Amino acid sequence: MNITKDAAVTITYKVTSPQGKPLDAGDMAYLHGGYENIFPKVEAALDGQAVGYSTTLQLSVEDAFGPRDDSLVRTIPKSEFPPGVKVGGQLQGMANDGQPAVFNVVKIKGPTVHLDGNHPLAGQALTFSCKVTAVRAASAEEIAHQHVHGAHGHQH
Ligand SMILES: [Zn+2]
Repeated sequence: MNITKDAAVTITYKVTSPQGKPLDAGDMAYLHGGYENIFPKVEAALDGQAVGYSTTLQLSVEDAFGPRDDSLVRTIPKSEFPPGVKVGGQLQGMANDGQPAVFNVVKIKGPTVHLDGNHPLAGQALTFSCKVTAVRAASAEEIAHQHVHGAHGHQH
C-alpha cells in the first residue's frame, strides 16, 4: 500500500550533519498523518510513497529539533544530586513553563553540575536520509494512541 493518513510506516534512517558527520541511524516505525511522530518535512516527502522509496532531505534548524533554548541550560550544586551523577546521564526536571523535561548532564566542574535540557541536536541543520521498509494500515489502538506499536515502534 501507499503511505496515506493512518499508515504505520517503518523506515531505515540516517542522520548526518550537512557536512556528512554521522549523528544518528537506525530503524523507526511511525504513524503517518500529522501525529508529530517524525519531522513534518520528512512526513510530507513520504506521503503517497511506498516500500522501497528512499530520499535525502536537508532539514533546517526549524525543520529539525529547533533552535537551542538557553533557558534550558542550568547549573545546580552537586550536593543537590543523588550520588553517582555522571556526565552523559539524564534526569527528569521541569522546563520554565512547568512541563516535564529531560535534562542531560553535560559537565561536572568542581561542586557544580551543568545541565542542558535542549535536545542534543537542537540548533543544528541536519541531512536526513531514509528508505521505506514497510507500510501497513495502523490498528485502531495505534491510531487512538497516536503511535505505532511493535518492532521499531512504541513499547508499552
Ligand atoms: Zn500505544
